[in-house]
This record gives sequence, structure tokens and C-alpha cells, in this order.
Amino acid sequence: MRRVSIFGATGSIGQNTIDLIDRNPSAYDVVALTGGANIEKLAADARRLNADLAVTAHEDRLEDLRDALSGSGVEVAAGQAALTEAAARPADWVMSAIVGAAGLPPGIEALKQGVTLALANKETLVCAGALVLDTARAHNARLLPVDSEHSAVFQALAGEDMSAVERIIITASGGAFRDWPLSDLASATVEQASSHPNWNMGQRITIDSASMFNKALELIETKEFFDVDPGQIEVLVHPESIVHALVGFNDGGVMAHMGAPDMRHAIGYALHWPDRRDLPVERLNLAKLGQLRFQEPDEARYPALRLARHVMERGGQSGAVFNAAKERALDHFIARRVGFLQMADIVETVLNRFDAADGLLDAPLTLDNILQTDHLARKWADDAVIQRAG
Ligand code: NDP
Repeated sequence: MRRVSIFGATGSIGQNTIDLIDRNPSAYDVVALTGGANIEKLAADARRLNADLAVTAHEDRLEDLRDALSGSGVEVAAGQAALTEAAARPADWVMSAIVGAAGLPPGIEALKQGVTLALANKETLVCAGALVLDTARAHNARLLPVDSEHSAVFQALAGEDMSAVERIIITASGGAFRDWPLSDLASATVEQASSHPNWNMGQRITIDSASMFNKALELIETKEFFDVDPGQIEVLVHPESIVHALVGFNDGGVMAHMGAPDMRHAIGYALHWPDRRDLPVERLNLAKLGQLRFQEPDEARYPALRLARHVMERGGQSGAVFNAAKERALDHFIARRVGFLQMADIVETVLNRFDAADGLLDAPLTLDNILQTDHLARKWADDAVIQRAG
């Protein structure tokens, strides 16, 4: 039996992972499931899957979790430290699907146990690329991508020599506002930004898709995961979300990965890798689709892409700054304190402030330093919001 843990089990990726495990429960021994506020779902899944341990990120919800799991024999715990402890439990395969930089400490801890880490939490590589890859190498752990674009690139690269790769192209649907006039974006609401044309995902990544901050994170993730130069990575708007990524080689050949927009493909690929198994995803019917469209992204519409290119060139702690400022800007947008277009302004203000502060971006990439940078960037994002309001 394969020992599996799922971090962020109550979220969109976590639930898709559980869907796959539920189809063949006798193949898996569930070690730990973690969630946040959704105690009911966490407890129900932990009970059904007979998990050893259930952890909520919120310390003040420990008693609720204990009540919900009473009599089940499932151990319970709460808080950020408990998440990291759960990651230290022996497992073979760990899904990293917490949203945001909160996924970083448990991800690093899991790698230290030498597990296979299925990485949906792109923030882990954005904030701490070199640290994560070094930790994986030092502990013989394996990192497998779960983001659909990175899974697609990984699959297109199977058996290929990286020195023959000329470019990697990741696609983007263009999100909720792809066809909106630019002049209307300033008044876009949280509800409008929370609806994705093709993918069914958590609210935060759905809004990040509308602003292309999600694609910006993925640009940085691509650079870190595949160790390519920023100039080799392109973004292409592809409204149908059928081609997830393409890899161009030095002989002019291009390998494209296609599939229905269903995260269970990329999750299942990482779950069964290096094998391929039957997965419950819709089969493509290209004749029925009729056409696939592609266009260059408009950087005036999506300033996040320009900022991501700056981050890739700057390196050091700038990925952690970018992500933390983005997370706070998104919090403020969701709380209706700032408008849709102001999110990019806030992130740029924070990046500029770090650029101007001597040495901060060049602190060694240790977990402690990254968490400190994350903390300061969030504070400076809040400052930027206060200044705008004042
Ligand atoms: P969701 O918002 O649906 O789920 C997030 C999960 O993290 C939930 O289990 C949530 O708990 C938990 N969580 C929230 N805050 C914290 C915290 N501070 N500490 C610990 N746990 C927390 O997100 P998604 O599933 O959409 O995304 C998860 C990750 O996967 C993100 O990094 C995203 O970018 C990435 N990803 C997602 C894709 C998708 O299709 N959804 C595609 C590719 C990548 P609760 O809900 O109980 O509060």
C-alpha cells in the first residue's frame, strides 16, 4: 500500500486528489489530511479514508475538529507547527495543495523525508526555488509538477535532452476579463473576477487567473522547475485551455501537450508516475472543438507578466517579495479595499521598495530569511494600501 498525505485536502486540488484515491482506496494508506476552516469536510474525508491524522491550520478550531472526529480513532492537531509536524510523518507520496506561501514550510519538511512531492503549490518554487531543489537533491526526494502547464512541459520533455530545448511556451486562458475593454477593468468586482471561463478552481487562483498573476507565478515556477533562462519562456493566450504547454526544440520541432481542462489528469499523472493509468477525464474530440485559438498576451492588460519578468531577472528573495505582496494585494481586493487594477500597482510598489533597500533581496535563501521577507513584504503591501487610501 502506498502511504499518502494531502496538504490542502479540503481545497479544489485536494478534493480532486481525494476523488482519485476514493476510486481505489485499498491501494492507499492515508497518513495525514490537512485543511483550514472547512472542518466538516476535513473530518468527513479523514473518517472515510481512515487517515492516521487530520490537521487544521487554525489553532482555534482544534476542539471543533476533535468533536467532529470523536470515536473515529483519527488523531487531530492544529496550527502551522502541526502542519509541519504532519509533513515529517513517513509517507511515500505527498500532495502539496495548500494555497499561498503557507504551503512552503510543510513542503520543505516533506522533502526532507525523501518523499515524492506532487507540487500544486506553485508559491513554494516562486518563493524558494533554489532552496526547494537543493533540499530535494540532498534528501533524495522527487518533485513532480501538478500545475497543468508544468505537468504538460514535464510530459513533453520525457526522454529529451534539456540542451536541445529552445523554448517553453505556457498557455493562459486569459481569465474572466480576456474580452473586456481595458477601460472596464478598473471597476471589475470580486464576483466577476471569481468566475473562470474553463477551469473550476479555488477563488484565489481564479482571481489570479483574471489578473494573470497566476500566469506570472507560473513563469517563475517554469524557470525554477526546468532551470531555463527567462528569455526561453513564453506565454500564449489560448482561450480554449486545451493545449496546456508546448516545448520547442533546436530542430524546429514543437511538442504540445493537450487535454480537457480537468486537474485530475495532472494530479493522476503525478500520482501514478512513472506509469500512466486510466483516469476519469473527458477524452478530447478535436473535430467537435473545431478550432484552437492563440494570441500574444497584451502586457498593458496584464502588468503581472512584466513584473514576473523583472523578478526572474532579479532573482534572490524577489520571488518571495512578489508572491507575498501579491497575496496581500489579493486579500485587499477580496475585502474590497482596493480595485482590480490596483493589485499590480501595490505589488510593483513593494518590489521597488525592496529593490531600493540595500541587501534585503540578496539575503541567503534559507527558510527563515524567506519567511522574514514574506512577512515584511506583506507589511509593505499594507503600507501601500494605506498610502493610497490617505
Ligand atoms: P483552494 O483555495 O481551493 O484550497 C486551498 C487549501 O489550503 C484548502 O484546503 C484550505 O483549507 C487550505 N488553506 C488555506 N489557507 C491555509 C493556511 N494559511 N494554512 C494551511 N492551509 C490553508 O486552493 P486550490 O486547491 O485552488 O489551490 C491550491 C494550490 O494549488 C495553490 O497553490 C494553487 O495555485 C495551486 N493550483 C491550483 C489549481 C486548481 O485547479 N485549483 C491548478 C494548479 C495549481 P480550507 O478550505 O479548509 O480553509
